[in-house]
Amino acid sequence: MHFEPTRAAALSRLLEFVPRAGKAYANSRNYDDGHEGEAARRNVSQLSPWLHAGLINEAEVLDTVLAHHSPRAAEKFISEVFWRIYFKGYLEQRPTIWQAFGEDRVAAYAKMDGNAGLSTGYTEAIEGRTGIAAFDHWARELTETGYLHNHARMWFASIWIFTLKLDWTLGADFFLRHLMDADAASNTLSWRWVAGLHTKGKTYLARQGNIARYTANQPDGPLEAEGLASEAPALDEEADHRRQELHLPNAVENEQFKDPYALLLHDEGASHVPLDLPAPPALVISAARPEARSPGQIGERAREFARGAVQSGAEAAASAFDCKVRTWSPGDNLADILDEEDVDRVVLPFLPVGWTKDALMPELASMIEAGTAIQLIGELDRATWPFAKAGFFGVKKKIDSVLAETGITGTGIAGAERQLAAMETSD
Ligand SMILES: Cc1cc2nc3c(=O)[nH]c(=O)nc-3n(C[C@H](O)[C@H](O)[C@H](O)COP(=O)(O)OP(=O)(O)OC[C@H]3O[C@@H](n4cnc5c(N)ncnc54)[C@H](O)[C@@H]3O)c2cc1C
Repeated sequence: MHFEPTRAAALSRLLEFVPRAGKAYANSRNYDDGHEGEAARRNVSQLSPWLHAGLINEAEVLDTVLAHHSPRAAEKFISEVFWRIYFKGYLEQRPTIWQAFGEDRVAAYAKMDGNAGLSTGYTEAIEGRTGIAAFDHWARELTETGYLHNHARMWFASIWIFTLKLDWTLGADFFLRHLMDADAASNTLSWRWVAGLHTKGKTYLARQGNIARYTANQPDGPLEAEGLASEAPALDEEADHRRQELHLPNAVENEQFKDPYALLLHDEGASHVPLDLPAPPALVISAARPEARSPGQIGERAREFARGAVQSGAEAAASAFDCKVRTWSPGDNLADILDEEDVDRVVLPFLPVGWTKDALMPELASMIEAGTAIQLIGELDRATWPFAKAGFFGVKKKIDSVLAETGITGTGIAGAERQLAAMETSD
């Protein structure tokens, strides 16, 4: 599967997958059939890198799926997309989890420096040399392709924590460095879920038989996983990550767009299309920060996807609005760019808790405070996040009402097809 970091590729992937998003997805999604060959990964959408980059959004995906399937037939797929929204809303209300992850990760790397045993165990794990065939296969697959199947991510994290007894923050960081879809919320909270830190005390144990069953269709037969831990005692932590009030930007008024403004596109909001801007920007600013996700080295696939997404999104916006693109690189001063271009307002897709926000917010915070930088948040996030207070069930039971409230009823397919056709003719 080729991942091209453009909106056209996201739409084309969505339209190609959508016929299989109903019962077929529910029945086959748990199988990790490998990434090689004609039929590779047809059981899942592989839309996550484009969703993370904001080249397409969840509302568009759900609307398109509902144009093809009844809500009941697509229930499983819809629910998985809501897991992503749930995790984002949950981290937004518990930002100290992300902060603590960053601090604990630094401490875990430092601890390895002075401990040859730990360092060897870690290196063998990330290089795929543990001797556990399935685990080694996924470690190599991740670094080579930038993607892992969901079930493989669960088994991998479980083996990392409970069999290899490595620090979970280092495993989560390994994922962040290499996944094209790396996401502060989905990744950190999924690792915590496996470890028993998300749903307190409930862990995920990888089992040899389960791995063999769900990898039976791999090109070389089922993956072997001998010597796995037989129990998964929950990890513990001292920190109490209390829920904080959700502060979302207000809905915008057309009035706010009357003065010239710069549209700032970033790693989690790389396309102007889902933003539905009421007036054209005078300037596009591209601000990719893939290196900010980890103190370690970022895998080439992950870095190139993130950079390519922001670049393609910025070029598309500049062409749609007939304006210029300026690149805001790390170390550059945003205020200087705005001065040079004679623009004093910025509009940007919402920056959720994570590394993109960590990297960009220091310069944007005072502008947001002063009302000269405006963040745009999607209606689906705004409607769902308040329910992401504790477990997923709080969101799950609201899915139907949220979809109705946000008008996601299945009218999008024609829109997606039209947009793709328009893009192809303008190429
Ligand atoms: C340890 C671990 C780490 C993970 N790290 C990330 C990450 O960094 N970024 C990320 O996007 N997902 C992460 N996931 C969730 C999930 O594995 C991926 O979203 C999914 O595999 C992406 O493939 P897909 O697009 O083919 O998914 P599909 O099965 O086609 O699902 C459609 C969409 O729903 C969302 N989704 C599906 N499953 C989940 C899930 N379990 N949790 C949250 N959202 C989901 C994704 O946006 C996905 O694109 C992680 C899961 C685990 C267990």
